[in-house]
Amino acid sequence: MVHVPAPIAFLKNELSSKCLRPTYLRLRVLESLHQGGTHPTVDEIYRVLLPEIPSLSKATIYNSLNTFVEVGLVRTVGIDGSQMRYDITLADHGHFQCEACGTIANFAIDIERLLIDELGPFEIHEKNVYVKGLCPNCRLTTSPDHKKE
Ligand SMILES: [Zn+2]
Ligand SMILES: [Zn+2]
Repeated sequence: MVHVPAPIAFLKNELSSKCLRPTYLRLRVLESLHQGGTHPTVDEIYRVLLPEIPSLSKATIYNSLNTFVEVGLVRTVGIDGSQMRYDITLADHGHFQCEACGTIANFAIDIERLLIDELGPFEIHEKNVYVKGLCPNCRLTTSPDHKKE
């Protein structure tokens, strides 16, 4: 995936479209979510921003992210069970996680067409599709005798 940094005007627009004041921290947190489609955790965002914002705390990042989730700018991804990850891609998609390096990749899937008739009487608020395995890089390094197709 080619990474194109989101221009500051675009980020400001995204915030003001949700009636959020474009504070410096919000802009930087939002920017880090756009970078590379990595579904970062609070810790990962903290490590990236700390050198530039020495007064930063994880709680403030968490607060910004919470606000983004509340207004529907970002959604959470609970794929690895331990730490919450944050996703800027709002359109329905599935997630692949590499068991070796932890890389998370998006893939397109028609979630509306998943057959879950058995849940007829239940009200569904969220549909997630998680797939695990090895990414192409890890296939090369962790299974040298993997059969070539
Ligand atoms: Zn991998
Ligand atoms: Zn995603």
